[in-house]
Amino acid sequence: MSFMKEYEKTFGIYGASGFGREVLPIAKKSINSKNNKLVFVDDGNKESFCNGIEVVSFDDFLNINAKEKFIAIAIAENEIRKVLSQKCINSGIKSWSLSASNIVVLDNVKIGEGSILCPFVTLTTDIEIGKYFHANIYSYVAHDCVIGDYVTFAPSVKCNGNVVIEDNVYIGTGAIIKQGRSLQRPLLIGQGAVIAAGAVVTKNVPAGVTVIGNPAKPLTRENLKKR
Ligand code: UDP
Repeated sequence: MSFMKEYEKTFGIYGASGFGREVLPIAKKSINSKNNKLVFVDDGNKESFCNGIEVVSFDDFLNINAKEKFIAIAIAENEIRKVLSQKCINSGIKSWSLSASNIVVLDNVKIGEGSILCPFVTLTTDIEIGKYFHANIYSYVAHDCVIGDYVTFAPSVKCNGNVVIEDNVYIGTGAIIKQGRSLQRPLLIGQGAVIAAGAVVTKNVPAGVTVIGNPAKPLTRENLKKR
């Protein structure tokens, strides 16, 4: 006979590292009932506590006795987020979206499951965003942007109007994405592209390409030497 406590709901933050610890206070605020449990889930962290919260392996999380389980994936690397989100869904765990209390969301913004919106994020008007979006502190998305799945914005990304960002794009700290011409002729950042920190993107970025600098150019040996 088992006397293991049963929780109504159990919440996990996947990733007990830098970003996970930043997400923790946002997560704590969104849980109120005493019969809910909050833990970090981490496959590599050997500590048993992180900022006062228990760290468990994925298997231990599965073994917690709870009616419902939720996980927010607080890992910036989008490929990892994709693999882990699939693993969670296959194990019957629901995605958990988190938003800081001071974000600004204006009009007609649609956003998919599993997003994390950090303090001071702004999403303005007529925006569509896919699954598992991360917007780190002070990032913004302006009008008429379409953003795919598993896209990561590091801190202070400035994504101006009429921009299309495909799946798995990573945008580094402080990058500026220039406004696209119109809804019909947006600035397009292709699937899996990486925008380096501080880059100023003035034209389309092909899929899978890393761009750096102002104006942003593809990362090649030539371009690196010129810097
Ligand atoms: N991690 C994990 N499972 C994975 C990949 C990563 O639990 O499949 C954990 C890893 O052990 C680390 C955290 O996720 O604790 C990622 O931390 P990192 O500092 O690389 O990223 P950040 O916190 O900046 O997103």
